[in-house]
This record gives sequence, C-alpha cells and structure tokens, in this order.
Amino acid sequence: MKNYDRVWATVDLDAVKYNMVQMKNNIREDSKIMAVVKTDGYGHGAVPIAHEIEDMPFLHGFAVATVEEALILKGSGIRKPVLVLGYTFPYCYEKMAREEIRPTVFREDMLEEMGKAGQACGRPVKIHIKVDTGMSRIGIRPDESGLAFVKKCAETPGVEIEGIFTHFAKADEKDKTSAKKQLETFLAFTGQIHDQLGIRIPVRHCSNSAGIVELKEANLDAVRAGITLYGLWPSDEVKRDIISLQPVLSLKSRIVYIKKLEAGMEVSYGGTFVAKETMQVATIPVGYGDGYPRSLSNKGYVLIHGKKAPILGRVCMDQFMVDVSLIPEAVQSDEVTLIGRDGEESITMEELGELSGRFNYELACCLNKRVPRIYT
Ligand code: PLP
Repeated sequence: MKNYDRVWATVDLDAVKYNMVQMKNNIREDSKIMAVVKTDGYGHGAVPIAHEIEDMPFLHGFAVATVEEALILKGSGIRKPVLVLGYTFPYCYEKMAREEIRPTVFREDMLEEMGKAGQACGRPVKIHIKVDTGMSRIGIRPDESGLAFVKKCAETPGVEIEGIFTHFAKADEKDKTSAKKQLETFLAFTGQIHDQLGIRIPVRHCSNSAGIVELKEANLDAVRAGITLYGLWPSDEVKRDIISLQPVLSLKSRIVYIKKLEAGMEVSYGGTFVAKETMQVATIPVGYGDGYPRSLSNKGYVLIHGKKAPILGRVCMDQFMVDVSLIPEAVQSDEVTLIGRDGEESITMEELGELSGRFNYELACCLNKRVPRIYT
C-alpha cells in the first residue's frame, strides 16, 4: 500500500461477481449477461473486471463504446464477444473484422463497407443492428425502412446478423409506461423481421441495468448490465429490494496535515468558509485533478475513524480541507474514506452524486488515471 498513500481506489472483484450472480438470478433462465465495460469499466478498470467474469457461464460477452476500448479488451486476451455500442468509423472496419469485434450497424454505408472488410478478411463480420425505439440517438426506425435495412443486412456478403437491440430512455423511472412501449415496439419489429423476412436473429437485447432489476419481460436473449455490475443504482427511483448489490469501488486517502484555526480564519480559494470558533482542520491530498468533484466544496464530507468530517471551503485541484474538530483522535497519516465504508458509516457513490449535483455514473467515470486502482 506504500505507493498509494496519497489516494487509491480499491476495486473488489468478488463484489463484481456477486453482482453478476444477483442479476442472473433476476433474469430469464436462458438470458445471458453482456457486461458493459465502456469508459474503462465505468472507471473501475475494464480489463481486470472482464478477466474476472469472463468464465462465468451466463456471461455472453462485453459491450464497449469505442473500437479502441474493444481492442484493449481483445489485446488483453479476452475471447468472448465484444460489441461496440456506438458508431464506428470506416478506418476501423478491417481491424474489427480481423479481431472479430462486433460492430453496431444502422447506416447503409456502414453496412456496405463492413461487408467489404468481412470479405477481405475471409470471415463475415458479426453485426448487431441498432433499432431506435425512443432514444432518438442512433438506430434504424422500426418501420418499413427498418425492415428494408435488415433485409439488406441479410443479403450483404461479408456480414452476418448476430444481434439486434434497442436502448431504453426511461427504464430507470418509476413509471415504466415508456420503457414498456419501447419494448413492445422492439418485439413487434423483431416479430415482423421473423414473419415477413423469415429471419430469426439469435441475440435480441434491450435491457440495461434498470430493466434487469425491474422489467423482467424485457430480459430477452441477453441483457446489457452497466451500472449494476459495479454495485451502483441506475437511479433512486429503482427499487432496492428486488436484487441486492455490493458497491465495488472505495476511494481512500490519508491526512497530510492537521492545524488549528482561530475564529475568523478563512479556508481555501475565495475564503468561502470562515471559522466561527477555534477548530481543527485536516488537509486531504486529493482534488478535482483526480476527478473528485469541486462541487463538493462546503457540501461534502469524508470519513475518518468512522466519523463524518465535513469539507470546508473549496475543493482545490489537488487538495481539500475537512473539519476534524469532533474527531480528536485524528492525526496526520490517518486513513480517510472518500467513498466506501468506515466502521458504521459509509459514503456511497449515489450520495456523493447527490451532494455534488452530479450523477453516480459520471462520478465513477471521472475518477481518472491519477488514482491508482487496487484489485482485491
Ligand atoms: N446499453 C447501452 C446502449 C448503453 O448506452 C448503456 C449505458 O449507457 C448501457 C447499455 C448500460 O446502461 P446501465 O449502466 O444503465 O446498465
């Protein structure tokens, strides 16, 4: 631990496996999980996590956002399918074909070029077709034009349709009307593909984490598990008693300095905190340069000796100060919990998100390279 005294994130790989099992127990018997490990596994580390879960029998494969992310997984020795969820640019197609990386396809020009890459490689590229049922982001329309596109996919040499999917816009809301409507549209469309074109696409997937937890009927041949894989919740509207999750990441640091402030002394840039009385203040060597939100200034807290120590003044790029007046046992070098549990107290990513006015997904992704990850 010596090298990591300034700040370190502990990533509990057993917790990742635990979350996988919890999700599996809540989906259809024959439904498999696609682990969404984009943005370096939501900041947790895609490669170690992917290797930890790759051999789980109900894991279909992995989903990432970019070809570069897929190549990192492949380069690390991952063998299960890797799907790129977003658009990929033509310069990547040959490499994708060679590495058997699955592209998401929804544009005719993509399809044609992908077909050429598959032919050049001597092996068809396995594609997943994206259907837009309500996000208005990427995807074909679930109508006649969409059917024509699927037909073209089936007829294009050098590609093979492996999957078809859509993405929910509001599955994390309490009211599931919109998600159910998207699901209905998606199922009707895949039904038409089967009935009118005679094509049965093997891997239909639409559920994200919220769908995995609360929309059993949406758990088709596969589901795409992102935030719940990391033990975090899609939103506070998703019920917490359907499956149990274990948070995977905790963030720690150490006190580097303790000093006494007299009444009237100011703390940090802009002097936004002024001591009203004598107090003990500790300096923590972490800041927004690590991805710890500046918006926690005067709002957040950390845990020291299992007690809450409120943040005083502005969070700087590399340091911030906390009030330890009520923690007299705190001394320099003591461990500080920024995310995670310390004794009876804990700080979750969700709570930090709320306090900072940000989003738990975003917070996890923003913890950057300056924070070493320790895998346990
Ligand atoms: N599928 C797609 C297409 C996504 O864009 C995402 C995340 O943004 C996911 C699945 C995973 O979502 P979640 O993290 O809510 O499970």
